[in-house]
Amino acid sequence: MRRLVMWDIDYTLLRGGGVAARAWKAAFTEVTGVAWRETPIFGGRTDLDICDGVFAAHGVTDCTPERFFARYVEIVETVRHEFAEQGALMPGVREVLQHLGDRPDVVQTLVTGNVPAVAAAKVAAFGLTGSFDAEVGGYGTDDSVRATLVRRSMERARAKYGEPFRPVVIGDTVHDVTAALANDAAAIAVATGATPAAELAAAGAHVVLPDLTDLEAAVRALTD
Ligand SMILES: [Mg+2]
Repeated sequence: MRRLVMWDIDYTLLRGGGVAARAWKAAFTEVTGVAWRETPIFGGRTDLDICDGVFAAHGVTDCTPERFFARYVEIVETVRHEFAEQGALMPGVREVLQHLGDRPDVVQTLVTGNVPAVAAAKVAAFGLTGSFDAEVGGYGTDDSVRATLVRRSMERARAKYGEPFRPVVIGDTVHDVTAALANDAAAIAVATGATPAAELAAAGAHVVLPDLTDLEAAVRALTD
């Protein structure tokens, strides 16, 4: 059975340098007319979930996520060049993607809390678009619960390729790990975000890597 490797974006593939967070805050005030007060914890959460939390924290009841996301995406499009200027790829990522990209037994995609257009802008900024079949990904507009994003990706891959895959999730937060486990997927964690390795292991990650600089260890974890 081939592997479906589902990559988280933020702090797994890359860091965006706060560009998306700034666009989020600007869009929020523009669309709702409410000054930004709360800074929620974005890590590992889906954009739908964050949106619900932000609206609730600001007492916003007359705006839909769809209307907010439309403006958010427009603003991100205007500043998308800043991802590569202010952000960075995480160490070893390009080599791991290239290696797996050459293997016929692996399909790589994105499972991210980001809305699809922002996910696409981030990976494009670092020249990674060709590494993923983004069509079979899971995104922050699919559902507020991250485990559902993993399930959607598995369903899309099966429908597109006409075969079941061995699912593998790679991410940097406890949310990625629990979303993988809820779908009986292999949970590979990288401690390149804010979550310590011990916490990722305690959450049930099958493998925890300090980062992706050890190509052999990363490939083994993702394809075993
Ligand atoms: Mg992440």
